[in-house]
Amino acid sequence: MERFANLIDGQEVAPVEGRYLPTENPWTGLPFAEIPRSSPADVDAAVAAAERAFRTSKWATMSATERAGLMRKLGDLVEREAENLAVAETRDNGKTFSEMFRQMRNTAEWYRYYGGLADKIEGRVIPVEAPGHLNYTIREPLGVIAMIIPWNSPVRLLAWKLAPALAAGNTCVIKPSEFATTSTLTFARLVKEAGIPDGVVNVVSGLGAEIGPALTDHPDVAKVAFTGGVGSGTAVYVAAAKRLRPATLELGGKSPNIVFEDADIESAVNGVLAGIFASGGQSCVAGSRLLVADSVHDDFVARLAAAAEKIRLGDPMDPKTHVGPVANRPQFERIMGMIEAAKAEGARLVCGGTAVTGAEGGLFVTPTIFADVAPDMTIVRDEVFGPVLVVLRFKNEDEAVAMANDSRFGLGAGIWSQDAGRVHRMAAKVRAGSVWVNTYRMTSQTSPFGGYDLSGVGREGGQAMIDAYLQTKSVWVNT
Ligand code: NAD
Repeated sequence: MERFANLIDGQEVAPVEGRYLPTENPWTGLPFAEIPRSSPADVDAAVAAAERAFRTSKWATMSATERAGLMRKLGDLVEREAENLAVAETRDNGKTFSEMFRQMRNTAEWYRYYGGLADKIEGRVIPVEAPGHLNYTIREPLGVIAMIIPWNSPVRLLAWKLAPALAAGNTCVIKPSEFATTSTLTFARLVKEAGIPDGVVNVVSGLGAEIGPALTDHPDVAKVAFTGGVGSGTAVYVAAAKRLRPATLELGGKSPNIVFEDADIESAVNGVLAGIFASGGQSCVAGSRLLVADSVHDDFVARLAAAAEKIRLGDPMDPKTHVGPVANRPQFERIMGMIEAAKAEGARLVCGGTAVTGAEGGLFVTPTIFADVAPDMTIVRDEVFGPVLVVLRFKNEDEAVAMANDSRFGLGAGIWSQDAGRVHRMAAKVRAGSVWVNTYRMTSQTSPFGGYDLSGVGREGGQAMIDAYLQTKSVWVNT
């Protein structure tokens, strides 16, 4: 069985205590590799390497143009290795190879895009009311960034942090999820090949509970960039606050898809279906709450259920498969537990709701729709992070807005209507970091992404986000 190593100071190194964890392929449910079960000592070594690289390596003195070139090279390598990286992701988290391959090609663009911004970071000369004085600003990197990522799309979600952080001149320590580590370690090898100096990018693998706090509480970490659930996100935010360090948090969601009677119903059915069931609902922006206008509700739900039943579950490497297995056993048990609880609470099961064992032993949950749900049911309020959709009905636009905003989350929202005035009114009133009109789940390196309320703090993507990895020095010169 392949044994992976941490990446510290450009070297693949074994964990200090010599302990490893098996990592399973969700399609077979069997271990395929061992990943380091690191300890706080490994975290210390990685932060020390990142801190040294920040202060003393060639990275610290390199011109922004050269840094931009290295990042573009990294983007090219991600594109060259897209197939291998996608295979690693699929083996780690069970998402289909075809989806992961598309993600890898887009991930390459993140490094190119932020590489393109690296040499456009500029200070300003500021007019001041102080005769004889010159005031100007210098934009500086922050230092060592701790990057903590989840299992659902690790290499892509890492790029959302790593690309702007590197462009700004920072160094980093990455902690991938214990449920999906090998793709990040595979990616990290490309960093060296790109010519980025040793120590700039370090990866420490292990359990969140064992090494997460050692990283977020480290005195030499300048910022924490986190993607994951609300529980661990809160712990990370508290740890950063105790050190008075900034943190960005990309957390969960319970995103509404809102279908009006004047929608193009066929494209709305397809959009809603993909919005929740693509990736088996294991997506932060999964459109897991469907709000449908009363007059089209019954017909819409019937069409949706018919389409949901045609979704092909299977081998994630097979191009004919629509949805692969659930990523890991704890997640599978959580999803099934929430389905049973919803039934017990009185939600009406329209389709799905069953557990299936795949041909090779992997765990699947059939695409599930609950209708006639009450707004206070747990299945309506909490994130499932699985293929489970709840359907509520509304009478008019105001009620649709109130229902959409009746959530502690605010990550994404879909609006399906052909009334131009209505879509803009809705887009203004819905509390969500991304609003999609007659489409769903679009993202781009050029556009900001993030959440309201429990869905997170800060944004990722777009030109302005490089600021999240910079600080500004104001220089006064008595001329
Ligand atoms: P998780 O919160 O369980 O784990 C995320 C990461 O945090 C893992 O690397 C884990 O090891 C680490 N961790 C756990 N406890 C920690 C601690 N105390 N200190 C530091 N690190 C700790 O999340 P998950 O189950 O891996 O991912 C699913 C969640 O991520 C869902 O809620 C989903 O919505 C969210 N997510 C959000 C986005 C987004 O961009 N908003 C994207 C993808 C996933």
